[in-house]
Amino acid sequence: MDRGRRRGPSVMTGTAALPVDQSAAERPILRQRGQREVFCGLTGIIWLHRKIQDAFFLVVGSRTCAHLIQSAAGVMIFAEPRFATAIIDERDLAGLADANDELDAVVTQLLQRRPDIKLLFLVGSCPSEVIKLDLSRAASRLGHRFGPDVRVLNYSGSGIETTFTQGEDACLAALVPVLPATGAAELLVVGALADVVEDQFARLFAAMGVVRVRFLPPRQAAALPAVGANTRFLLAQPFLADTARALEQRGAVRIAAPFPLGVEGTTLWLRAAASAFGVSDVRFQTATELASERGRRAVARYLPQLAGKRMFLFPDSQLEIPLARFVSRELAMQVIEAGTPYLHRQHLAEELALLPESIVLSEGQDVERQLDRCRAARPDVVVCGLGLANPLEAEGLTTKWSIELLFTPVQGYDQAGDLAELFARPLVRRTRLAV
Ligand code: SF4
Repeated sequence: MDRGRRRGPSVMTGTAALPVDQSAAERPILRQRGQREVFCGLTGIIWLHRKIQDAFFLVVGSRTCAHLIQSAAGVMIFAEPRFATAIIDERDLAGLADANDELDAVVTQLLQRRPDIKLLFLVGSCPSEVIKLDLSRAASRLGHRFGPDVRVLNYSGSGIETTFTQGEDACLAALVPVLPATGAAELLVVGALADVVEDQFARLFAAMGVVRVRFLPPRQAAALPAVGANTRFLLAQPFLADTARALEQRGAVRIAAPFPLGVEGTTLWLRAAASAFGVSDVRFQTATELASERGRRAVARYLPQLAGKRMFLFPDSQLEIPLARFVSRELAMQVIEAGTPYLHRQHLAEELALLPESIVLSEGQDVERQLDRCRAARPDVVVCGLGLANPLEAEGLTTKWSIELLFTPVQGYDQAGDLAELFARPLVRRTRLAV
């Protein structure tokens, strides 16, 4: 786990907590720089390997890295797993062995044994960075050796360069240069979504008459979506800055929208795409009204448990701002502080416009100070990473692990109630324990 450094523009300057930054956003933001409690980008492998069904993620790292992804994967046991770690040992670190030769041998063995692998990601880690192993050269060398049957790409999931959800961003950004070119006017939905959510969105777009819709990442490596100047892309996740930039370099244009969490977020997200593709208001209304009504009813079931409850969000998944918007506007919860590891002001502009003024926004982390603020506020629910949850529970606070928001289908109308339930559940559990 990374406890101190992160990638990203140097927005976090100066001392531990600078009070405000009003220049880039219309509202004050508490910027922090200090010790942080976050996972590294290797964590993304856990949901990405489920999504791209013929991909394999080979972490080039240490036993610590292997342990991290194994424990993050929990009890999932596969007959043929789709991630592994090529261990860099002391001999590699001491420069006694040629790590490139060893990596080539591991990859050769893997691909001979697993002809089902069509896309191989070499995933960099802290140790591979420390010994300066050039994985992009390794990927190109191995790509030549095993192509065209297998495509070999690389990205970094190291704690030096990435936090938690940035691993997905790095992975998708690595895919963008190999996407085929197209001149067709297509909608590209970007960000890993559970298959069930993807299918629901595809049906809604089809009902609106938007039929040329593709998703990145795809379910199969052979089905890479094409991209070009007439591609309009819609981010499904708020942590895809590098991927968005890479798509823009291919000529694609981002459709600005809030994110599809909750009924309101989903409607605005879909509507932004509908407007970009000239769908009439009537057709949009007809296509979405049943599902949005179903979502509203499902969310309303949790109002008695959640309305008026106070929430504190620690920076972890970068989903914090859309979540704060959802719980405050649709569940009438009172958000005290919404922390995010990195605030992308452009991608989050529509979210920030919807967020109640009373919410303190913070960017970056100085964990001890933030814990002090949280303890002083005594919120009803704390959304945080695994490292903070146990100590806070021991202090009598109720917590929700932010990592669950990545493992659970939460986007779209039919998941809006499930998303509300994720926050209601720990409160119910705490009440039961207290009885
Ligand atoms: Fe730890 Fe770095 Fe490996 Fe992540 S990549 S598990 S931070 S050593």
